[in-house]
Amino acid sequence: MSPVGEVADAPRPKEWILGIHAYVPGKSAGKDGRPLIKLSANENPLGTSAQALAARTAPLAPSLYPDPDSKDLRKALGDLHGIAPERIVMGTGSDELLNLAAQAYAGVGDEVLYVRFGFSVYDIAARRCGATPVIAPDRDYGTDVDALLASVTERTRVVFLANPNNPTGSYIGRSEITRLHAGLRPDILLVLDQAYAEYVAPEDADGALELAASSANVLVTRTFSKIYGLAGERIGWGTGAPAIVDMLNRIRGPFNVSLTAQAAGIAAVADQDFVEASRLHNLRERTRFVAALEALGNHGLRPLPSEANFVLIEFSGKLTAEAAYDGLMEHGYITRWLPGQGLPQCLRITIGTPEQMDDIATALRTMAEAAQ
Ligand code: PMP
Repeated sequence: MSPVGEVADAPRPKEWILGIHAYVPGKSAGKDGRPLIKLSANENPLGTSAQALAARTAPLAPSLYPDPDSKDLRKALGDLHGIAPERIVMGTGSDELLNLAAQAYAGVGDEVLYVRFGFSVYDIAARRCGATPVIAPDRDYGTDVDALLASVTERTRVVFLANPNNPTGSYIGRSEITRLHAGLRPDILLVLDQAYAEYVAPEDADGALELAASSANVLVTRTFSKIYGLAGERIGWGTGAPAIVDMLNRIRGPFNVSLTAQAAGIAAVADQDFVEASRLHNLRERTRFVAALEALGNHGLRPLPSEANFVLIEFSGKLTAEAAYDGLMEHGYITRWLPGQGLPQCLRITIGTPEQMDDIATALRTMAEAAQ
């Protein structure tokens, strides 16, 4: 059937919109509809800060619009990170900011560049404003700065880089980020997506926030969906030169952060103990899980190095990623198999509780041994 329907004179979508495949979220229920333990969306296994939970259920006035400028939340973030609130823009999740960045700086005839296996929203962000997505080759699933720089053309307007990257977990350090920025023309916007930065210690080890503070062409985006445990409230933020922040403010939704989201966000920023506990939990459990997976190397399982709250596992032995995905589902877990992102040989698993990670490592071992 034609995507515009059968009616000849129906509204015609722009041709670049027809090329977009809707974002495919991970499943949340098994084949028979029974609930599964969800380790497919990189959410926080510790839940949400108790203070943030209390703030969003405190008496608020939902008959009134929220503060359109999220002033108190921007101030809280500015105080925490040493950034002037005027240099901070809020989004309905960082997804909104990624889309706005592409929309503000790229259009028909322009190119938006990112690395192979980059975050899937970059493709949608590029296409929805009519720009052409250009994909630079990876280096063993990781970011190759030379390949990115070699893929820049005179039409490049925006470069997206997630660091750590999703779905690979790969990370590049400060010297590589500096080299990437130095190699780009100043009229290209470099978007450094730090959705998982708080899992890295120190969290600005790649110098992205410093670069956003000192350059005219860098936007850093962050989210409350991961370490802050507020994915359901949809809060993202970005920082960069005042001119960039101004452009995004012009085109964002006027009340794009809800009343409960602003209240929860402010309380979550104040509870850095929860953030630190989440970071330590992740480091401990990721290290243990990776060690358990490395012991399965002779069965063809390879955990890729990850600085994030998930691990991407490559399967090259008798047990395939698809079979492992199905087997884990039988076992009660939903993980992320990624054929749609060119990774049919890989499974991404979010770091959960110690019991869940032990259970999954044991299940993978049993399946790998049975496949021999
Ligand atoms: N960037 C990256 C790299 C991500 O993995 C995600 C979440 N999957 C986002 C941005 C968007 O997160 P949100 O819109 O929830 O802030």
